[in-house]
Amino acid sequence: LASRDHKSEDTIIEVKGVKIGGDEFTVIGGPCSVESPEQISACAKLANETGVSILRGGCFKPRTSPYSFQGLGFEGLELLQQAGSQFNLPVITEVMDTEDVRKVVERADMLQIGARNMQNFALLKAVGQVNRPVMLKRGLMASIEELLNAAEYILAQGNMQVFLCERGIRTFETATRNTLDLSAVPLLKQKTHLPIIVDPSHAVGKRELVLPMAKAAKAVGAHGVMVEFHPDPDNALSDGPQALPPTQFAQLMHELHS
Ligand code: PEP
Ligand code: MN
Repeated sequence: LASRDHKSEDTIIEVKGVKIGGDEFTVIGGPCSVESPEQISACAKLANETGVSILRGGCFKPRTSPYSFQGLGFEGLELLQQAGSQFNLPVITEVMDTEDVRKVVERADMLQIGARNMQNFALLKAVGQVNRPVMLKRGLMASIEELLNAAEYILAQGNMQVFLCERGIRTFETATRNTLDLSAVPLLKQKTHLPIIVDPSHAVGKRELVLPMAKAAKAVGAHGVMVEFHPDPDNALSDGPQALPPTQFAQLMHELHS
């Protein structure tokens, strides 16, 4: 179902007037995690001022260590929904547990499957059964073929609103958090009709590298980018080192569109 052989024309996903796919270049932006009402509301305001189309914010966080901040859960999701509606922005958040899917659908406009859950087949089937667009992130160790098969799991359940996200893969290189595989973009555009966006933030892990890689993503034909920003990155509860402060994020939006 994901293949161009099955469907030759590009899939375009639409939510609350925002499109992903086709000739659109869509920016998803926001903090790694929803931390407080003030923080997410400041992020939504910045998103609105800078022309972001979709507000992101993690509520259920797949942290490497169980002792790191795990997210505010459903309380965070309520804050995200409020911040989004305050500025008329659709919201996306990661869902990690099959049990949570139906409840998350009540408040989120789009669902995110994180890299670590790309092959959580029970979760893929669960999001395949709801009526919400799903952003499927490429696993840290996943091949293009495995990514497309993961998408297939969702599509096979009847949910055709799937888009892909290249977010870097694990290589021998440790100078960046992961290695952004930009060749995945044109390759996937050949193989599948599903939209493909790039997440430079998690790929590089360093804020100075986010802008050049976001521009590179646009240059290779990505349908958009997802970028993390934070009103006060030094005090962020997760992924501070890769978060852009407001002025740098505004600069990124300016340069991406000029
Ligand atoms: C995220 O986007 O919030 C995230 C955790 O990214 P990834 O799953 O790509 O590591
Ligand atoms: Mn993050």
